[in-house]
This record gives sequence, C-alpha cells and structure tokens, in this order.
Amino acid sequence: MQFVSYGAAREVTGSKHMFVANGKKVLFDCGSFQGRRDEARAKNEKLPFNPSELTAVVLSHAHIDHSGNLPTLVKQGFKGPIYCTAATKDLCDYMLRDSAFIQEKEAQYINEKKAKKGEPPIEPLYTEKDADDAIKQLREVNFNEKTEIYPGFSVTFREAGHILGAALIEIEVIDENAQLKKIVFTGDLGRKGLPLLRDPYEVPEAEILITESTYGNRLHESFVDAESKLAEIINKTAAKGGKLIIPAFALERTQEIVYSLNKLSKNGKIPQDLPVYVDSPLAVNVTEVFKKHKEFYDQETLKEFVNDKQDPFSFARLTYITSVDDSKALNNHIGPCIIISASGMCEFGRILHHLRNNIEDHRNTVLIVGYMAENTLGRKLLEKERKVNIFGKPYEVNCTVEVIDAYSAHADRSDLLSFATHIKGIKKVFLVHGEEKAQMAFKDALTQNGFKWIQIPQFGEVFEL
Ligand SMILES: [Zn+2]
Repeated sequence: MQFVSYGAAREVTGSKHMFVANGKKVLFDCGSFQGRRDEARAKNEKLPFNPSELTAVVLSHAHIDHSGNLPTLVKQGFKGPIYCTAATKDLCDYMLRDSAFIQEKEAQYINEKKAKKGEPPIEPLYTEKDADDAIKQLREVNFNEKTEIYPGFSVTFREAGHILGAALIEIEVIDENAQLKKIVFTGDLGRKGLPLLRDPYEVPEAEILITESTYGNRLHESFVDAESKLAEIINKTAAKGGKLIIPAFALERTQEIVYSLNKLSKNGKIPQDLPVYVDSPLAVNVTEVFKKHKEFYDQETLKEFVNDKQDPFSFARLTYITSVDDSKALNNHIGPCIIISASGMCEFGRILHHLRNNIEDHRNTVLIVGYMAENTLGRKLLEKERKVNIFGKPYEVNCTVEVIDAYSAHADRSDLLSFATHIKGIKKVFLVHGEEKAQMAFKDALTQNGFKWIQIPQFGEVFEL
C-alpha cells in the first residue's frame, strides 16, 4: 500500500493525495494551485497521473485549494464518484461554477493581449460545462457513517470544524497482507470555539496520521477577544468618517464576519445605523447554502438565533449586493460604512475596485481577517507595504491596515499538537499542507512530544505504508 502527495506537498495549495492499495487508486482532494498566474496554470493543467485510472475521489471540503481542479480531472477522463458531505456538495455547486467563470474570464483577458501581438489564443483551464460535469459526479455521504469505496477500502467523514460541511476522514484499508490499517486524513483541521461551527471531532485511535500543518509554527489570538477588537476597529474608523474594507473569502469567512456584525449590532457595540454591504455574488449564493444547512450550526448559533426564528445572516442595515451597477454605486457612498468583498486574498474580483478607490484615503481602514498566500496583494497589504499595484497601476497605501487573525479556520500549533497527541497508537505521521518553515517547526514539536516517524513528503514522493 502506497501514499503519494501530488499537491500541498511542502506548500499550502493544490491539495491532492493518493492512496494506492489492492491495485486501486483513490485520490483525496483535487485542489487548485494558486499563486503566480502562469506557474499555477501550468501546474493545474498538467496532472501527474492518469485521471481515468482513479477508482474514486474523496473530497474533504469545498475550498477551491481542495476542490478547484475537479473539473480538470473530469475533463481529462475521470469518470468515477466524488464522495463528499451534503453541504460540501451544495457549496461546490457554486464554488466550481464560479471558478470556471474566473478561468473563462482570465483566458479572455489573456487572449485580448495575445490577439494584439498576433499570437494564437489559449483555452480556459476549464469551462462552466466542465464544472457542471464534475458537479454531476459528486456523491453525498453522511457524517459519521462508514462508506465503502470498494471492498477493503472504506471512509468515515467526521466534522473538521473548519468550514461548513468540512470533514476529516477516517480511512480503513485491508491491505495485501489482509491487515487492517486505520489512517486519519485531516483535510483542513479547524479550531474549537469558532463561530457557527461545531468543534473538530477527536479521533480516538489510528496507526497513520496525515495532517495539515499550515500554522505548525504559530499560535492564533483567542477568538474570545476577536469580536471586541472588531468593534473597536469599526468604531475608530467610523469616528474618522472612514470606510472599513474587509477582503474576505466568499465561503465561511464572510458568513462569520456577518454573524459577528449581527451580534455586535444587536448588542449595541457598533452603531446600529452603520451601513454594511456584502459585495460578492458568490458570497450571496454561499450564504443561502449556510441557511439551508442549519443542522451543522453549533449550540450558540442555534440558541442565539435559530431557536428564536432569527436569521444569523441578516440585520437591518445589511445589504447583499449582486448587480455590477449596485457594486459600482458603492464608489459614490458618502460617509462611514463597512464593505465586505472577495476575493479573500485580493487577487481578483470586486475587492480590487474597493481597494483601489479607498486605500489612498487616510480615514479608511483595510481589515485583514484571512490567510494571505505569498505573492498576493493581500499579503503585501498585510506586510504593510506602502505602495501596491492594482490593475497595473501604483497606489499609495495611506489608509490604516489592521489584522484580526482569530477568525482563522485552521488549527494553530497547539490545536494541531493536541489533535495528534489525543490519537492512540500513531506510528507514522505525514505533514502536508504547509509552507516548509511551518512544517519543520511542527515536526520538532511532534518529536518533542514523542512521535518518532515523521515525514514531510515531496511532490510525487512514494511512501510504502
Ligand atoms: Zn480549507
């Protein structure tokens, strides 16, 4: 039995992990690589294995760096089932179509430039039709129920506490020697106490652990203080007559921020007449999926909102914006307001317009609430660069840049350690989904806690289990 990482190996995007057992191949996640445009495109296009040889795909959650390359997989010949939870299936319906739309737009933009130089056009990585085909192959499974992928290979999805519908997966394999092996694949591991979501499942026992390690070298701020810090930033910006711009992932982070603002507004911690805009058609669609799947809300949300028949995602001064005209009209908004928009890392989408229009004004604030990968505009703002390029033009960053990292949906170093040490019987640990610095630090931490066999796979490196 073998294990190979073909993505999120010593990096954080492009998750693709393969098990080869009993002559069959099962792929866990099929995410998009993100980062520099040309490099990402080449990596996403060229799959390092033959998709038609896969028996099945197991999908941990709907984030694009875990699901975003499923349409390419299907386009290049994968015909089998893609197992995921009901919420992941509903979310992917929007996420993959949106991703296809971005691919088509990007190809169009590149082709306009190519046409001017007399060069031949390129095809989009995949189209909406390819996304639709992939969506048709999604198969819903319930949390906490064992699903047989083929005789001798079964999976049980458990709550990961990361985003709506996200799973960590317990795998049971009967190998060539008729030995039962228990393996845990964390997908992206969440944290205790996050808004809306229940805490991650604690795995009692397993032999092999394949764990993400995004924040293997860091501790997050506690969530307890996050909402008061958010209120402070809002009140300070509003007092200056400024606007608060929040770049946020359309999936999960936007809903969490809206939920926090709802509570702050309800409890009089921020001005109740302060307009709040969610400017992202994808976020609007994703919020509908959140409303549909109340079964995954935590006790607090049920108690504070659902049992009183209140909607956690709407309040008096909150407006969801889908049309381009309404989005453009925000440029002329006079006076304080909050604008939440995507993409989360400020790489494309409407957030770019809001940043361009607002970062040169010292009264305004940009609030970073999510992970910013290397080489993204979001990372540049986070690192307090004073001049940035947007749509190819330089802009001075005169506004205030604030950071709240407590909303992070990823386990930090101590959460990862406590998750691993809680599992009885671990003999081997693989670290995936992390930048190398974080992985090395987390490897040290595991060693200090008595784990002996720890590997950090390279891309394509084959391990016998
Ligand atoms: Zn994720």
